[in-house]
Amino acid sequence: MYYNSINNKLNIKKFSDVFFSNIPKNKTLFFPFKIPIIKNKFLNYLKKLNYLNFSFEISKLFLDNISEEDLYNILYESYNLKEIVKLEDLNNNNYLLNLNNGPTLTFKDIAMIPLSNLLNFFSLKNKKKNIVFCATSGDTGSSANNSFKNIKNSKIFTFYPFNMISNIQRKQITTLKSNNIFNYSIIGNFDFTQFFVKKIFENIKNDKNVSLISVNSINWFRIIMQLIYYCYVSVKNSNDKKLDFIIPSGNFGNALSAFLAKKIGFPIGKIIPCTNDNFYLDNYIKNNKIENFILKKTICPSIDISIPSNFVRLINKNFFKKKTINNINNDIYSDKIYNKNIINSIEYFYQKFNKIYDPHTVIALSSLFKENSKNQVAVSTSYPIKFIFSIKKIIPNIKIKTNLKSSFFLKEKYKIFSQNFLVLINSIKRNINV
Ligand SMILES: *Cc1c(COP(=O)(O)O)cnc(C)c1O
Repeated sequence: MYYNSINNKLNIKKFSDVFFSNIPKNKTLFFPFKIPIIKNKFLNYLKKLNYLNFSFEISKLFLDNISEEDLYNILYESYNLKEIVKLEDLNNNNYLLNLNNGPTLTFKDIAMIPLSNLLNFFSLKNKKKNIVFCATSGDTGSSANNSFKNIKNSKIFTFYPFNMISNIQRKQITTLKSNNIFNYSIIGNFDFTQFFVKKIFENIKNDKNVSLISVNSINWFRIIMQLIYYCYVSVKNSNDKKLDFIIPSGNFGNALSAFLAKKIGFPIGKIIPCTNDNFYLDNYIKNNKIENFILKKTICPSIDISIPSNFVRLINKNFFKKKTINNINNDIYSDKIYNKNIINSIEYFYQKFNKIYDPHTVIALSSLFKENSKNQVAVSTSYPIKFIFSIKKIIPNIKIKTNLKSSFFLKEKYKIFSQNFLVLINSIKRNINV
């Protein structure tokens, strides 16, 4: 599959090159040259497959430089989870899509695990070591560290904003024992952390024996692996009705995946990314307005982001440029739920249904219940235990079962860095060379 740059149509790359060039140089983001379209007959065939075989058939469409046998083995190794995606009935033909069953209880695991295995594959094939960079607003870090902890030939550097992620998210990142993991806590918010990581990339020299890679949400392989669960759920549960997906969104990676799943021909209605008090994405979508606000700290730290990079990628794509934003408004809607309403809803769902959801999932659910909706799916992106301290402030006596507890008492490994770039980059260079 070929991809071209959103700024320069003539800058064409294969998947395997795009995969290794995911920190945009000169703001170059890539997009599929031609989106594959699925025929009805193929849809009927896909309907019968299990998740593993389904993901094989779809991912094949987007990749190159890897044999079918190798790809299948990577997916086979990655998907031995019992239930990868689980659709739960709500009411009125509405559903909750649980994507939080992975080892670190986030939807990100579903893409991160195969990503680590694919990188391992390329590393053995090309005889190169991997230096992996991860900027995280919470869940990417735990998912990436956990996925890469056993990958030989890879070192992972994970950066998160100091005091801006939940205590449990931090513990999940910092208590994994593996000497290929390096954690950096940066004083500043997520936008700043992400900016630092881009700068680090520019300051580390290319070495022909090493691949530098970033596993942030603009990574195409992550987008592809995420797209598969929307394809899977929509085709298995459609019964001739199109499903809308309501997705708590930060960098718009998950929502972009849903959009592509629709574009390649799966029975999907509206895609409704949802934000909170940091509603920059909502402004982009509804008013085509780019504003620079100051980030507010909310109960949903994983989506406290002001520049949704994947949305920028989408609207800059050439064929959208002509008619700009109106063109995608047939597919992409938007909603926002304010922090105080999220807090009220957490309490409401507990009182009314005896259920505790994570605050990000509550955003999607609140949006769904706002109107008398039908055939809508609220997407659950995380698990309440990760935000237990915030939830306990709302419902003090709550107990949530978890097997994460064992990690609560382990020693944490991380270093705190101020915004002095030179000190940071020197530390990273030292760790790359040990
Ligand atoms: C990462 C994350 C999101 C946002 O996903 P994007 O792809 O960046 O939009 C939403 N909820 C949770 C819990 C997350 O960890």
